[in-house]
Amino acid sequence: MEDTAKSTIKTIAVLGAGTMGNGIAHVGARSGFNVMLCDLQQDFLDRGLATIEKNLAREVAKDKLTKTQAEEARGRITPTLDRESLAGCDFAIEAATERFEIKSALFRDLDRIMRPEVILASNTSSISITKLAAQTKRPVQVIGMHFFNPVPVMQLVEVIRGLATSQATFDTVQALAVAFGKTPVEVNDAAGFVSNRVLMPLINEAVFAVMEGVATPEAVDKVFQLGMAHPMGPLTLADFIGLDVCLDIMRVLEEGIGDPKYRPCPLLVRMVDAGWLGRKSGRGFYTYN
Ligand code: NAD
Repeated sequence: MEDTAKSTIKTIAVLGAGTMGNGIAHVGARSGFNVMLCDLQQDFLDRGLATIEKNLAREVAKDKLTKTQAEEARGRITPTLDRESLAGCDFAIEAATERFEIKSALFRDLDRIMRPEVILASNTSSISITKLAAQTKRPVQVIGMHFFNPVPVMQLVEVIRGLATSQATFDTVQALAVAFGKTPVEVNDAAGFVSNRVLMPLINEAVFAVMEGVATPEAVDKVFQLGMAHPMGPLTLADFIGLDVCLDIMRVLEEGIGDPKYRPCPLLVRMVDAGWLGRKSGRGFYTYN
């Protein structure tokens, strides 16, 4: 299956060099694919490449790669600011900012630039694949390929079928995920897919427990670590993901599924209003240096 992807796909376009895009580029190059990494500004590309180099060096230090393999992987990544230069790529993965206007404009443009047979995948966490597919003239070749952070480490890829996604597209993407050394899991297009539909209400409920004085954040997290063998508790995880991202996803679930059980916890809303976004802002349920 892995060989099928490698025989038809040689060069992958990755749109967005942020947290997820640089991780996808890293894993693609490490798996032997050429990668064109595209972002909007040179400093975003430079930051993404610096992260890739740091993470490859870490894999060498841990004996997961040889120095030569790391250098070869880095050598397979070509940064670009010119979207038109992606025309020769055999596959595209979009990992741009999570806003529908940005992604829809990008999909329309990729549809114009890329050869008609090329698959366009999105790493979106919450935007409808069916809606993105409808921006293009190739909805059968649009699919969700949802990686997890940090991409070089996490095993899962949720492969999300839009309403029009063909079986051939699904099979290729599944094979590509395997060629990346990942484990694909098939999911249909619905708000939050499986990962966020189940995880975010857990986090949201944990915030309700804190707001209602049922337990402290430390106690809630300890219950999940020691009682359910979670590697980190839901509030530590929320701080890691970003409380603004958690709130956005709860709103997508609330609107997309329409069930009041997805109502964001008022404490989560207040914390985001205060700019307490978790690790990235230095304060969330915990404080960080
Ligand atoms: P990020 O903010 O770190 O990076 C986004 C990058 O996209 C930025 O560098 C931005 O300049 C670039 N960008 C914006 N518009 C672009 C365009 N038109 N062309 C090329 N690049 C463009 O964001 P991220 O955390 O890497 O998230 C990217 C996507 O991955 C989102 O859809 C997000 O929902 C999804 N995702 C994120 C995580 C996570 O844990 N961070 C996990 C799974 C999926």
